[in-house]
Amino acid sequence: AAELEAICHAAGGVFVPAHSFTPHKSVYGSCARRMTDVFPPEAWARIPAIELGLSADSDLADRISELRDKTFLSNSDAHSLPRIAREYNLLEMHEATHEEFLRALRREDGRTVVGNFGLDPRLGKYHRTRCEECDWIATQPPPVLFCEHCESEKVTVGVLDRIHEIADTPGPAPPEHRPPYRYQIPLQFVPKVGGVRLNRLLNRFGSEMAVLHEASPQALAQTVGTEIADLIVRAREGRLVVQPGGGGRYGRAFADVSRAQMRLPGLVAREGQEG
Ligand SMILES: [Zn+2]
Ligand SMILES: [Zn+2]
Repeated sequence: AAELEAICHAAGGVFVPAHSFTPHKSVYGSCARRMTDVFPPEAWARIPAIELGLSADSDLADRISELRDKTFLSNSDAHSLPRIAREYNLLEMHEATHEEFLRALRREDGRTVVGNFGLDPRLGKYHRTRCEECDWIATQPPPVLFCEHCESEKVTVGVLDRIHEIADTPGPAPPEHRPPYRYQIPLQFVPKVGGVRLNRLLNRFGSEMAVLHEASPQALAQTVGTEIADLIVRAREGRLVVQPGGGGRYGRAFADVSRAQMRLPGLVAREGQEG
């Protein structure tokens, strides 16, 4: 990683570690407990930001004190067209240029990331530890580092578990510059929103963001009926029950606990989420 950063720097690039906590191929997930163990000081000073990945959020990353000065990005992968912008950043810039973007990453003269919009991290593919032998997925308090069902140590360690393992603060310690991180539950995760209804919503409101954040409950109900409108509003307000993902499988959102089948510690709707 240090060599790659040096090559990037020599070519005039700016290096930002991506999905920094995921179990396969990431700095914290599969290399080191500290970025400063990987990057020499001059390289670490040049790195303006880290990208959080789907299974983490700012509060989780703010449990690692070496990240205090770094800007957090919540980017989506570009692997498939419909998933582009399921996570994104709101930027304060004077104009939409590459130069201004870099200044925002460095938080120069008022340029900054003013908001992160991302998946509820529990829905991410690698949020909790999952057993590769028996498919068991951890629900116990983190960190869980082996399978408590078959006792195998062949597990894919979850991002939540990994962060608890390497954290050096007892709770989130966000610096003053850290902007709010707003959860969003993409429509494909909302119960009962299938392809037909998804298209109807997109045709009516123009974009998934407009459906998730702006459309009124009445307008939603006119388009897809009151039951689904209610589910979309509950997704917006963080009032769906979420079963965490792990080991490459996404988490799932349910209308209520009875539908989520089991009463597990992880299956608690987040009430009163800000924003
Ligand atoms: Zn990726
Ligand atoms: Zn197992």
